[in-house]
Amino acid sequence: MAKFKVVITDLGYQSYQPEKDELAKVDAEVVLAECSTEQEVAQACKDADGVITRAAPVGADAIGQMEKCRVISRYGVGVDNVDIPAATAKGIVVANVRDYYNEEVSDHALALLLACVRRISSRDRQVRAGMWDIGAKEPIYRIAGKTLGLIGYGAIARTLHRKVKGFNLAEVLVYDPYVPAEQIAPAGAKSVELDELLNRSDYISIHAPLTDSTRHMIGEKQFEMMKPTAILVNTSRGPLVDPDALYNALKNGQIASAGIDVYEPEPPQKDCKLFELDNVVLTDHAGWYSEESQLALQQLAARNVALVLSGREPLYCVNPEVIKKQ
Ligand code: NAD
Repeated sequence: MAKFKVVITDLGYQSYQPEKDELAKVDAEVVLAECSTEQEVAQACKDADGVITRAAPVGADAIGQMEKCRVISRYGVGVDNVDIPAATAKGIVVANVRDYYNEEVSDHALALLLACVRRISSRDRQVRAGMWDIGAKEPIYRIAGKTLGLIGYGAIARTLHRKVKGFNLAEVLVYDPYVPAEQIAPAGAKSVELDELLNRSDYISIHAPLTDSTRHMIGEKQFEMMKPTAILVNTSRGPLVDPDALYNALKNGQIASAGIDVYEPEPPQKDCKLFELDNVVLTDHAGWYSEESQLALQQLAARNVALVLSGREPLYCVNPEVIKKQ
């Protein structure tokens, strides 16, 4: 019999071998459950030493019934399905997984930007419809010499910045109230206020988190400040952009086009107005995904658990006060 039992509360991946391989190193067996209610979580995790969760509700009741759990690890960054205060009160470490997607999301932002600049989706639709119109009613502009504006300058934006260095852009502008200008200048970008970024950028890519202060930070007033040739890319969270203002700006030619991976609401409703428009490239919150990033997500979520079960700290801890007390 294995030394530890680790329960995965809800499933969604094709194979759980990555978790099994990580946890075998600390002699833990993996039990796959398919919980959708808190009661089911409570039942499945009663005698678990560790829990890995995706979206199942790991609430205070379920946590209260855990007899010997030492760690709850979440696939991904957000831990809103876990009652953190309840886990903390019980001395259970809560861990998450970050930084597994920087390459993918920055690639995706770049792919959306290039698709908009080169009008890949609309031309694809035209060719399939039998049209062959090289000249074009829709102008395409050269990338070299243009200005890119990055809203938020964290891990993904910095990775994107590194990738666009070969494009011969004139300038990269950054708006991030929490990153000092002295850190931005040596990276080859200029720290500016949001209005200046919106005014001067040819391409705007959003990489800030969703908070009370970023909700609808791009609305009607902000679209008015943008160039009519501007391209907006959003791979952060849908609600950073007011959806009605986005639709109006695209429809009325206030901006040229947009590349959108994230929505409000998400997934978008069947009658989402953006679907009517030709000057928008849409993807399904797929920015984070590649075979490699998914594997990393599974391995790192399991490694968090293996580390705690072997008496060490997880890679990413959400409630470090529990570790300090141990
Ligand atoms: P990060 O925490 O490394 O960086 C976020 C940056 O935003 C920080 O530098 C922070 O200072 C800045 N910021 C905070 N408030 C701001 C504000 N009001 N205005 C401007 N900047 C502000 O995060 P990251 O890993 O770079 O991820 C960025 C966002 O990408 C995440 O918050 C998440 O919403 C999104 N994301 C999307 C996908 C996807 O699949 N599309 C995947 C992962 C992450």
